[in-house]
Amino acid sequence: MARGSKYYIALENEYGAHNYHPIPVVISKAKGVWVWDPEGRKYLDCLASYSAVNQGHRHPKIIKALRDQANKVTLTSRAFHNDMLGPFLKKLTKVTQLEMALPMNTGAEAVETAVKIARKWGYEKKGVPKNKAQIIVCRDNFHGRTTTIVSFATDPVTRVGFGPFTPGFKVIPYNDIDALENAITDNTVGFLVEPIQAEAGVKVPSEGYMRAAGDVCRQHNVLFMLDEIQTGCCRTGKMFAWMHENAKPDVIMVGKALGGGVVPVSAAVSSRDIMSVIGPGEHGSTFGGNPLACAVGMASLDVLIEEKLDKRAEKLGRRFREGLHKIKTNKVKEIRGVGLLNAIEIKKSAGDARKYTERLKELGVLAKDTHGQTIRFAPPLVIEERELDWMLGAIEKVLA
Ligand SMILES: *Cc1c(COP(=O)(O)O)cnc(C)c1O
Repeated sequence: MARGSKYYIALENEYGAHNYHPIPVVISKAKGVWVWDPEGRKYLDCLASYSAVNQGHRHPKIIKALRDQANKVTLTSRAFHNDMLGPFLKKLTKVTQLEMALPMNTGAEAVETAVKIARKWGYEKKGVPKNKAQIIVCRDNFHGRTTTIVSFATDPVTRVGFGPFTPGFKVIPYNDIDALENAITDNTVGFLVEPIQAEAGVKVPSEGYMRAAGDVCRQHNVLFMLDEIQTGCCRTGKMFAWMHENAKPDVIMVGKALGGGVVPVSAAVSSRDIMSVIGPGEHGSTFGGNPLACAVGMASLDVLIEEKLDKRAEKLGRRFREGLHKIKTNKVKEIRGVGLLNAIEIKKSAGDARKYTERLKELGVLAKDTHGQTIRFAPPLVIEERELDWMLGAIEKVLA
């Protein structure tokens, strides 16, 4: 007999570390924008696994690539070449408009890779004295969970209890160009930043910020490093968020939807000149660049391009925000977003966001609350207009 949701939740709670606080729903099947629980209830997935499922759950083309590759070879390690890595990286460098990529698996690994590249570039190309390299980051950043990355996080939940921390990072306010200029010294090797601070609650910077930040970096011979792990892969209405302002980075980090919601695929991508600072044995990953991941990554990029999911995110994102603005409610403090990366901030007087996400769940919409007052809405980009409108109807019900 099939077990019910209660059973699986209890089992997770008993045997799994409590490092998440999930909405109490169990997902046992998924297709496109829809997911089902073991009882057969259907929900619209408005988180899309933190934007790792931009192409929709189990996209047929991506699943076919997975199956076909699984029948050939799945893992070679980088001790040998494989016939999928080159074609994948050629495509990835083309879509990022850069020249060379270093493949990893998770987003945090891509960020770690970028940090190492920037430091080594600082010593070898910029002439920074040994062990003096500094990287500038922003307050309220989210770049992953490793010990080095949490060393420069500012959210206490992420950080407290995990020291001692890795030195070499300087935190400045987000969306503040003067702060960036003032923070740069001769030892600054990079500025690591998110084009939109998604985890912080979809914080969208002022128009022109990305462009100006890139210009300041170039003027001071500092690497402009964009973490597009969540904002990339068409989420904001462009293949990458930097394309809204033509703020091309020196190093970009890509992950999440690069794996089409199927397997973890990430990379740090840069120019030939910058990437040349990394030599054999200096960095790597057993699974990074494996043929299965490359096949999936290639199909994931193909789907984004062929289905023009950038245009779709742009158009439906606008429709979504227009719909939200029409809702008559006194509970909303702010509506923020670009493309299909959006958030509603609930007024403190109207209670926690969590209460609203639990009500949305009852209506068949899965969205994630964050930082007490914010609800993020980031459905798969393959969502249809009528599905989006249905979701707006549910949001209206809980906000009325
Ligand atoms: C999710 C995320 C990461 C970390 O990716 P993982 O695959 O969870 O390690 C890093 N940066 C940003 C902006 C993210 O959204």
